[in-house]
Amino acid sequence: MERTLSLIKPDGVSRNLVGEVIRFFEKAGLRVVALKMLRLTKEEAAEFYSVHRDKPFFDSLTDYMSSGPIVALVLEGENAISRCREIMGATNPAEAAEGTIRRAFGLDKEKNTVHGSDSPESAAREIAFFFSERELLAGKR
Ligand code: UDP
Ligand code: MG
Repeated sequence: MERTLSLIKPDGVSRNLVGEVIRFFEKAGLRVVALKMLRLTKEEAAEFYSVHRDKPFFDSLTDYMSSGPIVALVLEGENAISRCREIMGATNPAEAAEGTIRRAFGLDKEKNTVHGSDSPESAAREIAFFFSERELLAGKR
């Protein structure tokens, strides 16, 4: 069993796609074990995406990610990290495979509806960024 962090980004929440996005994950057998809605400050978005701080898209990305509410989810399942990324599709929705979330809903390379951790190290860091031990225990069965 593995856990990963996913975010439904502001374009997904504002277009009323929270349930649809979660449905893609659940349909594929990933289980939601923690969930919350929140709005990041620009500073929090910069901290979350700090690996990208030197990229040309960083300022626009952090403006966008703090522009409205997001939903944070912890997903659990076998190979949850890579499976979540498969279900999301490529970063650029125009290049995302048929049947993926970004192909279905992504607007452009930035407003691509979902985030998913890319490694066990990122998953651990990103889950702890959004959820306390108590919130993680709540989803335990
Ligand atoms: N992004 C962007 N322009 C780019 C590449 C990425 O605006 O050229 C944004 C996009 O929202 C992406 C996020 O930055 O999801 C993080 O980029 P990363 O390369 O980590 O893509 P991901 O892991 O989300 O597929
Ligand atoms: Mg990434």
